[in-house]
Amino acid sequence: MADYLVVGAGAMGMAFTDALIDHADVRVAMVDRRHAAGGHWLSAYPFVRLHQASTFYGVPSTVLGGRFQEHGPEAGLHERADQPTITAYYSRALQRMVDTGRVELYGGCDYHDRAVTSRVSGTTYAVSETTRVVDARYLSPDIPAETPPPFAVADDVHVIPANGVVGVEEAPSQYVVVGSGKTATDTCIWLLAHGVDPDAICWVRPRDPWMLNRALIQPNPAIYLAMVANMLEASAAAPSLPDLFLRLEELGIMLRIDPAVTPTMAKAPTLGTWELEQLQSIENVVRRGHIRAVHRGRLEMEQGDVPIADDAIVVHCAADGLKLPGRIPLWQPDRITLQAVRAGFPCFGAAVTGYVEATRDDDTEKNRLCPPSSYGNTLEDWAVMNVTGFRATASFGAEPDIREWASRVALNPARVAPDTVPSAELDDALARLAAHTGPGIARLAELVGGRL
Ligand SMILES: Cc1cc2nc3c(=O)[nH]c(=O)nc-3n(C[C@H](O)[C@H](O)[C@H](O)COP(=O)(O)OP(=O)(O)OC[C@H]3O[C@@H](n4cnc5c(N)ncnc54)[C@H](O)[C@@H]3O)c2cc1C
Repeated sequence: MADYLVVGAGAMGMAFTDALIDHADVRVAMVDRRHAAGGHWLSAYPFVRLHQASTFYGVPSTVLGGRFQEHGPEAGLHERADQPTITAYYSRALQRMVDTGRVELYGGCDYHDRAVTSRVSGTTYAVSETTRVVDARYLSPDIPAETPPPFAVADDVHVIPANGVVGVEEAPSQYVVVGSGKTATDTCIWLLAHGVDPDAICWVRPRDPWMLNRALIQPNPAIYLAMVANMLEASAAAPSLPDLFLRLEELGIMLRIDPAVTPTMAKAPTLGTWELEQLQSIENVVRRGHIRAVHRGRLEMEQGDVPIADDAIVVHCAADGLKLPGRIPLWQPDRITLQAVRAGFPCFGAAVTGYVEATRDDDTEKNRLCPPSSYGNTLEDWAVMNVTGFRATASFGAEPDIREWASRVALNPARVAPDTVPSAELDDALARLAAHTGPGIARLAELVGGRL
């Protein structure tokens, strides 16, 4: 009988289980509706890549990738895995766990109310009272391939999810890309890379996004920690959140596509400056709120109609990729609910949760060590994510064994690995981080007021 039932074999469930079994002699059953490990990546659009370095993603025992890119516009930056690499990695990571003899994955199975039903055979199995349930789907993203467009679609228009652009057989005179997040930016870049004229793209962007400069989110503590120190120094002095983001832009940390528009969205994926330049070539940007319906030749929008080509292909990139269902205690009597713990970097959050679960007995203490963080959406959400994430890092980081473990786990972006070569840049980053963390977080907390 399993000690744990992990619901969801995506990034969160895999990182948790990997850390758990490496630090405790326990048996784990994983269940997933999908047939394999890897979660949403198994159904993602085929041209997706991690938006950040491979090193920061995956499970703690096995690095997904750590090479520098040698060619292309990101030469010198760390590699970012593509979809086949990610899914193959999760397949190998699962096999390593299964080979311990203590982990099994039940694919094609739905979990519901302490029972698991096979979607294939229809058989239902009860979950034993002594098995601890781990909810690893609480923050599972919606993706366009599996989520209908959030607008009505007339019969005679061509609407496809992002995945569909690779299957277009006859070029339309116009593509209408709907969405403001990573899927939309990836789709625009892919269309441009395939020779689509920027003027043949209409980009429906209800909100403009702030995005992080990828060159600074690198697995190199001298670079990453200097960026964090700058961010916190700017935070301490910021009169408001909109002003803070402008300061972060001046520091080269945040990027926006249109300098004439002040973004209101801060999910803050990373973006390459080469991508920014290409995205800026798309001038037909529609900002009239959300689409209510797509008709042949026109978009019916919250703030009026917008004409489009009769043969336009509308590309749905508007699923809710980063969920904000509310922070809840990770450890509750009936379940463990995996969430981000440090700011961003969900795989590290799930991994540290697995490590703490393996090495501590008392749930109250575990909740003290790993309070939940959340994701960004509005500027305020982004600030909440950082305050909660920094507080969590201070909490678990005060435990010598966790600090030592976290310094060995590549998923941890803030680690200074034991074999790090000393440098003046790193010393400077660490000193500035020590000086600015307290005031920066205190000011961010003031700016979000009662949201904490
Ligand atoms: C396009 C895209 C790119 C991203 N890029 C990055 C990146 O570069 N870096 C980064 O840190 N984050 C990135 N993210 C975010 C990150 O991938 C997610 O936050 C994280 O991977 C989600 O993992 P998950 O395990 O929570 O969800 P999922 O991957 O969705 O896994 C949850 C699993 O639970 C299963 N499930 C759900 N309900 C049930 C049920 N009742 N019974 C059985 N199974 C169930 C689902 O089938 C699913 O496989 C990206 C997200 C998207 C959408």
